Amino acid sequence: MSNFVFVIDTNKKPCDPVPPGQARRLLKQGNAAVFRRYPFVIILKYPASLHPGPHQLKIDPGSKTTGLAIIQQDKVVWGAQLQHRGQKISNDLKARNAVRRSRRNRKTRYRRPPIKNRGKRQRSKGWLAPSLKSRVYNIMTWVLRIKKYVPITGVSQELVKFNTQVLVNPETTGIEYQQGELFGYEVREYLLQKWGRKCAYCSATNTRLEIDHIHPRSRGGSNRVSNLTIACHECNQAKSNQDIRDFLAQKPDVLNRVLSQAKQPLKDAASVNSTRWALFNQLQQTDLPVEIGTGGRTKYNRTRLELPKTHWLDAACVGTQDMLTVLTSQPLLISAKGWGTRQMCITNKHGFPIKHRERKKVFFGFQTGDMAQANLPRGKFAGTHVGRLTVRKTGVFEMTKHIGKVSPVRHKYCKAIHRNDGYMYAFSTISH
Ligand SMILES: [Zn+2]
Repeated sequence: MSNFVFVIDTNKKPCDPVPPGQARRLLKQGNAAVFRRYPFVIILKYPASLHPGPHQLKIDPGSKTTGLAIIQQDKVVWGAQLQHRGQKISNDLKARNAVRRSRRNRKTRYRRPPIKNRGKRQRSKGWLAPSLKSRVYNIMTWVLRIKKYVPITGVSQELVKFNTQVLVNPETTGIEYQQGELFGYEVREYLLQKWGRKCAYCSATNTRLEIDHIHPRSRGGSNRVSNLTIACHECNQAKSNQDIRDFLAQKPDVLNRVLSQAKQPLKDAASVNSTRWALFNQLQQTDLPVEIGTGGRTKYNRTRLELPKTHWLDAACVGTQDMLTVLTSQPLLISAKGWGTRQMCITNKHGFPIKHRERKKVFFGFQTGDMAQANLPRGKFAGTHVGRLTVRKTGVFEMTKHIGKVSPVRHKYCKAIHRNDGYMYAFSTISH
């Protein structure tokens, strides 16, 4: 089933989102009109009289993809996965830097930089790299956008990996960790952070990591966090209830590393993730109450509620969530695309100019980034396609879909359904 449809009344006041069937009925009866395609919003032709219920917007910020979910009283009614631009931004800036540097130096003698610019670059306190800043901006764009169409009453954000309040001095205080309980998940996240998300014995990373007692329980080892480590399944099985000194008898350097690392508490327990904190600060600027969750709690909720691991369902599990009914299985896939470039001269990989761009962006009423529907009468791609256009002055365009490309797409077969807003949209074709 698809996402619920956002509804605004005739005064553009957000109302409760409705199931797709009800939205279809409203449109059919002429009581509403389509207001926006991505996300799908309909506008009622009369003022709304009912008071909307509480809606929580939940965010699981990731480095490549951020999950978003809207919860309407224990029901997940809308989900989205927001893909960030990541490496693209830093590559673009590096390329621009190189072009400018070579242009400056081409016909200029060497000049020493002025004294005030010499030495280290000055950066202000809250400085974030442009690629990280763009993630925060992407998420804030969507929070503010959703707020316009849904009566959001609160925001939940996953801020840190584990709860530092519970784990004050976790190495020394004798805390009993229990598998399957919330606290166990917090401890696990702590250990993953402390041991660098790899097996302490063989350094394997791409595998299921388990919690291992360094001194086995059967030999009087304690349940304290300082006696716990992270190991892959094979190492954990191989070690079993052997003493660590016997298990690592052949690898004295590994033994020493594990024993010394076990004693050291995690240096920065808060493990500051600057992007997440920047987002948190931005969210607090909105007038919404912000609930913060931990990665441990998200995982605990997801496991307990038996939900598959996806970004948008992870988002739904952020914060306190006793129950969840998932009423949608098709999250909106959003990819940040930026607003294009001003580069007029396209060069090949050697920097040799190969073509020049026109001084305009709109051709035949379309511009790159528009979402369009194309009805192709014949050819390899005959049929109906919905995707993002890349326009050319010839009128022969290209269309990018969620999976793959459609080309050529002639302008006369295209109908714009959503004008460029810096993002590309698709629906996940696989459920969950
Ligand atoms: Zn291992």
